[in-house]
Amino acid sequence: MKNKVFAKRWSKSVQNNYGVPEITLVKGKGLVVQDAEGKIYLDFLGGIATNILGHAHPSIISAVSKQVRTLNHVSNFYSHPNAVLLAEKLASLTKTKNAKVFFCQSGAEANEAAIKLSRKTGRSHIVAAQGSFHGRTMGALSLTGQPSKREPFLPLLKNVKHVPFGDIEAMRRSISKKTAMVIIEPIMGEAGVIVPPTDYLQGLRELCDKNGALLVIDAVQTGMGRTGDWFGYEYSGITPDVITVAKGLGGGLPLGAMIAIGNSADLFKPGEHGSTFGGNPITTASALAVIKTIEKQNILKKVRKQGQILIQELALIPGIREVRGAGLLIGIELEIANANEVTRKLAEAGVLVNAANASTIRIAPALIVSDFQIRKFINTFREVLTNGS
Ligand SMILES: *Cc1c(COP(=O)(O)O)cnc(C)c1O
Repeated sequence: MKNKVFAKRWSKSVQNNYGVPEITLVKGKGLVVQDAEGKIYLDFLGGIATNILGHAHPSIISAVSKQVRTLNHVSNFYSHPNAVLLAEKLASLTKTKNAKVFFCQSGAEANEAAIKLSRKTGRSHIVAAQGSFHGRTMGALSLTGQPSKREPFLPLLKNVKHVPFGDIEAMRRSISKKTAMVIIEPIMGEAGVIVPPTDYLQGLRELCDKNGALLVIDAVQTGMGRTGDWFGYEYSGITPDVITVAKGLGGGLPLGAMIAIGNSADLFKPGEHGSTFGGNPITTASALAVIKTIEKQNILKKVRKQGQILIQELALIPGIREVRGAGLLIGIELEIANANEVTRKLAEAGVLVNAANASTIRIAPALIVSDFQIRKFINTFREVLTNGS
């Protein structure tokens, strides 16, 4: 079947909340994907920062197939080795003494868990950033600072305040002894890869300490090595109370986690939260393979280097106003607000990216991307901007 036929059938059977995708992908290996008509693309979006090891990575294939043959789903009445191993591993990546993990399937659910955890402080007020994205369920949407996504679904949770991102004084005016939690993305992904001032997270840590509020780092997009660090906040030197991860965690399988640190690690009591599929043996097998591969191949160091090359070289291309980000989460701000058009032309030229907003292209390729593929991406981008617009 052709892309157009899939699009037509999609529009009749799948709800219209995403619009109708023009391209149907049928297979992939590493960063190379193929559509229903046999056209090949270089995938620089990675399922929006999700296919952290690309498509069909041997370590994931092997871990997942072994697990499917061995034990599938056990419910939360029983433990299984992968959940314990992965929780221990995630806890150790926080480099703290006491960190405990709650498993779920998605970023929104990880943030929902954080909201519920924060209620256990006895407080209910929340401060988040304007422009932020924390998910689409009613609780997570209450945190999301984007009016267009919120307004059709009002009323949402009460006592959530949104302040300008990166503005520590605005936070100072809004955080009080009533604040249960402050939630922040180390880099705002959906908003167009917005990087805060370097001392922002430190300032937030101090304000949260002073007022007894939990500091929640939403690392759903920045996590799992994407920025060259495990969660994206480490450069700041702070220790958060809660970290939420999902997207890259399962290497393409649906897995999320809410990691609570220090005193907040022990706030939930039996029966207070749960998820049927959370920490399922198969998705956790995949996550263990992801982390092991990143560590064994020293991928974080490579990601930092490639990020610097991308930022430096893309910035030289005429038509690009600014290049922002860290590691392999990069926003390319165009001089003209034609990001949708450029995205379409890149796809025609065989490169997949997405338009985070009218003037920003976002890239989040798999962390296994080669230097050759980086070069190819930069060259294609230059050609499209030079000849195409
Ligand atoms: C994608 C994203 C979410 C939501 O994750 P879902 O898995 O779609 O629920 C939350 N926070 C951030 C920062 C994200 O990028």
